[in-house]
Amino acid sequence: MKNLYCSSCDNIVDANLRSKDEEYDVRGDKFRIKSEVFFCSRCNEELFDEENENKNLGKVYSLYREKYNLLSVDQIKSIREKYGLSQRAMSRLLDWGEVTYSRYENGTIQDSAHNEVLELIDNPKNMLAIYKKNQHLLSLHMSEVLRNRLSKLVSDDATTNLISCFEKFLIGDQKISEYTGYCEFNLEKLKDIILYIATTQTVILKTKLNKLLWYIDFLFFKTYSISLTGCTYIRFPYGPIPNNYDDIINLMVHEKLLEKNEIIYNRRKGIIGERLTSQLKIDKTKFTTDEIRVMDFIGDYFRKFNCVEITEYSHKEKPYKETEEKGAISYELAKKLSLDLK
Ligand SMILES: [Zn+2]
Repeated sequence: MKNLYCSSCDNIVDANLRSKDEEYDVRGDKFRIKSEVFFCSRCNEELFDEENENKNLGKVYSLYREKYNLLSVDQIKSIREKYGLSQRAMSRLLDWGEVTYSRYENGTIQDSAHNEVLELIDNPKNMLAIYKKNQHLLSLHMSEVLRNRLSKLVSDDATTNLISCFEKFLIGDQKISEYTGYCEFNLEKLKDIILYIATTQTVILKTKLNKLLWYIDFLFFKTYSISLTGCTYIRFPYGPIPNNYDDIINLMVHEKLLEKNEIIYNRRKGIIGERLTSQLKIDKTKFTTDEIRVMDFIGDYFRKFNCVEITEYSHKEKPYKETEEKGAISYELAKKLSLDLK
């Protein structure tokens, strides 16, 4: 029982819900359903109630979705939730404007082209491709959330297909420039160097490793006018960090090249770090003598430095200081590095 306005009685009346056979027209298609309708308890007039009518429409729309093989509202919603995106972020990422996507979650029937896109991105591999193309449309926060989800979905999926797809994403189609040290990004080389450091340092924490990588690449550039890995480094508050650093480490853990463990490295301050251990004996013949010289020089120079010390040290470097926050550090600045290969 509900109280509704009846225009024949011109009064608020008790309304009774009864089912009724009704035909609806959706985009030129006719659907018959048993709809639930309110009637006036005094004069038996049919009464309109928006909330109730939406329920009936929902039934009709799901028949339409079934007939044309369109995703249901719940399916659409669960695809979005899988990637941790808000409705607005989803709409932006797909370049559908601000509200189109939300309307679909609110029951509007999606057009078939949009349905196809939604079905495609249910597969993380395709979502990765969209993300790569449109990540600039997302806020920094949403972009980070989606990246984390994608890298997690990739690690959960044991198919090598997806791993290689993710590797391609990490490599990107970056052009050779001052930010790559005039060298094509070589993910395999970067992984080898990470394993070399993990093997030659007694204990290596993730926060120290990223600075060692930066010093190696930049010192190599300072000495030989080309970078070693082609990796782009970003200026973060905690120092220079390889682009896609977390994803690369996660990938290596997944590939069983590295093991990652949480350790407390400053008990007094309760600082927790991630310790990396190489799971593989590194084959030194993979490197040239020049490469080994630079890696050993940096490894020895910073051997006694803890995470805080090497971070503070890197903050004093001109290439770091002369780059804006979250900006890529130009290898052209490597000539101002405080260290020289002796
Ligand atoms: Zn009435």
